[in-house]
Amino acid sequence: MHSSDTIVNGNGKVNGHGLRWRQNDSHSNGFTKESNGVPRRNGKSHFGNTQWGRAWSVDFRTLLGCMFVLFGCPLFPMFFHISCTRHDCSLLQTFTAVFDNLNVTTFLSVIPQISVQTGIIYASWVAWQVILSLLPDVLHYVIPGYKGGWQKGAVTPAGNVDDYNINGLQAWLLTHLLWFLNAFKWRIFSPSIVFHNMGAFMIFANIFGYSLTVFSFVKGHLFPSCADDCKFSGSFIYDFTMGIEFNPRIGKLFDFKLFCNGRPGIVCWTIINLSFAWYQKETYGFVSDSMILLNMLQAIYVLDFFWNEAWYLKTIDICHDHFGFYLAWGDFVWLPFMYTLQGLYLAYYPVQLGTVKCALILLLGLVGYFIFRSTNYQKDRFRANPEGCVIWGKKAQYIKCSYVSADGRCHQSSLLTSGWWGVARHMNYTGDLMGSLAYCMCCGAGHILPYFYMIYMTVLLVHRIYRDEHRCQAKYGEHWQKYVAKVSYRLVPGLY
Ligand code: NDP
Repeated sequence: MHSSDTIVNGNGKVNGHGLRWRQNDSHSNGFTKESNGVPRRNGKSHFGNTQWGRAWSVDFRTLLGCMFVLFGCPLFPMFFHISCTRHDCSLLQTFTAVFDNLNVTTFLSVIPQISVQTGIIYASWVAWQVILSLLPDVLHYVIPGYKGGWQKGAVTPAGNVDDYNINGLQAWLLTHLLWFLNAFKWRIFSPSIVFHNMGAFMIFANIFGYSLTVFSFVKGHLFPSCADDCKFSGSFIYDFTMGIEFNPRIGKLFDFKLFCNGRPGIVCWTIINLSFAWYQKETYGFVSDSMILLNMLQAIYVLDFFWNEAWYLKTIDICHDHFGFYLAWGDFVWLPFMYTLQGLYLAYYPVQLGTVKCALILLLGLVGYFIFRSTNYQKDRFRANPEGCVIWGKKAQYIKCSYVSADGRCHQSSLLTSGWWGVARHMNYTGDLMGSLAYCMCCGAGHILPYFYMIYMTVLLVHRIYRDEHRCQAKYGEHWQKYVAKVSYRLVPGLY
């Protein structure tokens, strides 16, 4: 669910996908010819306004994709919710029931009920996360090795570098501390409150997601945070879905992208899981081993995200995608309600796996996590110091490359060809997928519903591979081809 990109190839021709890079002529000395050869106008190249990161010529296929994201995706969380609350988590039963009684009255009768109280609770949750996101980070002073506080983001297409207040770990810890204090001491609200009001919260999350999309769209037109980084494709549908502003902000402190992904999205993930576990305890008198395992595996992933929040600033989400429905609605609705499907399923079906299955799934999850994390870590270490980097006991091997950015400047870069990056080109995704499979396997083999996450992640990451490789091809030209020739597999060595 990510935007397509825009490329200007070596001839300056826009060809649809990828960053707006100009490939270097590998027969030139790499730099001076290109940097001198590209005329500049007010810091921008002769290709017009600085455009970087996604398509501005929208074709029919892209529009169809946007329509699906806008109108199709919102049906999924609701469908799965109805499936579990009314049809024993059976997708087939739900499908049949929906199509047998497809009329407005039935539709209205299955839509979750909302109340003023659930609205206030949901709004308070978002407000609490906003407050936490504005606090200065204290943890980086006390936890050695943790990179929090003010951190620099990547260079934006217009050449800006934004500062980010990295305090996600602190927000996560404070939120969970409150949850545990409430659960075991205060009991102001039921610890399974999310489970009991899942449907209502989903409606409010949708209201927030849609409202934020409209707000961002209007803001992009009327008062953007950085006009140079805005993109207008000429298509209302595309701009509404994929966003106009690159880094919309309120003041210097509140960054929409960082906030939405991390707080209503990822902090919420573990809170929802805990709520499901609590529901199991109050309903069946025990918490199943599968639920404990799932909570552990997903908590590791979430904690990893917050521990490495500064690294997240350099990923595709932040340094590539614009802020529209895709991110705003996706973070408010898709992430919390679709990434927690396994927990929802286990709340209804408390599968007991037994020690052997638990151990095997744990092993799969941890190996997946290890590959995911160490692949990302190798790239980070390498990019920070290509010459001095040692991977798996040997000096890192790499291909030197260069590229030209939209403002006409030449830059040097390098592609790692040893370590995980020499095994396949996207081993971080492979690790991620192994972890995703482990989450799904926690639910046993009774139903397909909890496996939807695995299907979704595979589609997401394979699509991401194509987007990213298209972009890298445009950016590095034949240097990228050299890398592809040297490391021929994308995801699974020997297979794909
Ligand atoms: P990557 O971290 O893989 O970054 C891709 C970029 O890395 C390329 O565009 C290129 O950028 C650079 N690169 C590619 N090959 C090499 C190489 N051989 N050596 C050095 N640099 C290279 O992609 P993402 O930002 O998509 O993913 C980040 C993490 O987030 C992943 O681990 C992924 O699994 C995870 N993720 C999780 C999701 C979820 O929903 N759970 C969703 C999406 C991602 P350049 O050269 O321009 O620097």
